Amino acid sequence: MANIPMRAGGSAARIAVIPGDGIGQEVTPEGVKVLRAVATVGKRSLEFVEFDWGADKFLRDGVSLPAGAVEMLRDEFDAILFGALGDPRVPSNQHAADILLGLRFKLDLYVNARPVELLHERLTPLRDRTEKDVRIMVFRENTEGLYVGVGGFFKKGTADEIAVQEDVNSRKGVERIIRYAFEYARKNGLKRVCMSDKSNAMTFAHDLWQRVFKEVRQEYADIDSRHLYIDTLAMEIVRDPRQFDVIVTCNLFGDIISDLGAQLAGGLGLAPSGNIHPGRTSLFEPVHGSAPNIAGKGIANPLGSVLTAGMLLEFLGWKTEAVAVHTAVKEALLKNYLTPDLGGTKKTTEVGDWIAERVSKTAGA
Ligand code: ATP
Repeated sequence: MANIPMRAGGSAARIAVIPGDGIGQEVTPEGVKVLRAVATVGKRSLEFVEFDWGADKFLRDGVSLPAGAVEMLRDEFDAILFGALGDPRVPSNQHAADILLGLRFKLDLYVNARPVELLHERLTPLRDRTEKDVRIMVFRENTEGLYVGVGGFFKKGTADEIAVQEDVNSRKGVERIIRYAFEYARKNGLKRVCMSDKSNAMTFAHDLWQRVFKEVRQEYADIDSRHLYIDTLAMEIVRDPRQFDVIVTCNLFGDIISDLGAQLAGGLGLAPSGNIHPGRTSLFEPVHGSAPNIAGKGIANPLGSVLTAGMLLEFLGWKTEAVAVHTAVKEALLKNYLTPDLGGTKKTTEVGDWIAERVSKTAGA
């Protein structure tokens, strides 16, 4: 369980659904299916509105993120369930950048929460590790860093070409994500926070991370805080993941280290994430991309989307329902009711149906 903070409470919510491209279109309906099932049992009211933003629309109409979309999502929805974006027909991936990065930046979703949780010991490639050994919350800064798109080309396409990509870090941005990590640890009774950067090489941007971390950690004497360079963290997390409860890092390193973490916990098909601004409309998406190589075959693993739906339920404050979803996914793993990527023989929809049925039986219990 991710134990993320809730938006508002209450027993009704409006969810925007953006399936996107590739397997996003296959797994997101399964996430919705499970949400519908769990809401019915819990006597919650969930309203879904689907949006067709993605490569097809971009290629057809030239529109990626429609005008007014951000304000509409912010004002009319509690949360967004997102699939994935990316399509070989759009080599620049312009639509994906406009939509996903646009929503992250414009909704100011500064926390990218990526829980790394081993749900069954046979899923980890690490030897002699069990469920209790791999349980880490990775917080990736989500609105700054190397992803802001500041930079440019000089003499593009020539032998003298220069390409510049700026790493943008604000005092406010660094402080709020580090503080969020400490607060999360404290609220959830977790004892260890690790901040990771590359301040030995990135002597300006990550010097700021160092200074802010040293300042903020003083307010959390109850938490054992430590710093590791990102290369050391990559080694240590594989050598002994038991060392970590909460990791906080910048946008780029968080992207990479959470994919590494996903592999330690069973692969991309199982990894959920939340793009969060506490108290505001937030976006939940599986960590995986659109996986064009398996799209359209009906074999994509929907459990990443289902666990993502579980995080969304936690965000709404619907804890019982979130637990029911989490428990049902664990049961599917135990009973091997799985898609081929996890060694099963089931189709995407079969797994979704099975989970929805399980939660129908347990959510209200
Ligand atoms: P992005 O660039 O959008 O992050 P990516 O290039 O990292 O995407 P993904 O689409 O995330 O690639 O997936 C990489 C590979 O992992 C896929 O080609 C696919 O084989 C496998 N994979 C990812 N997600 C799933 C899933 N839900 N079910 C089954 N296999 C998956």
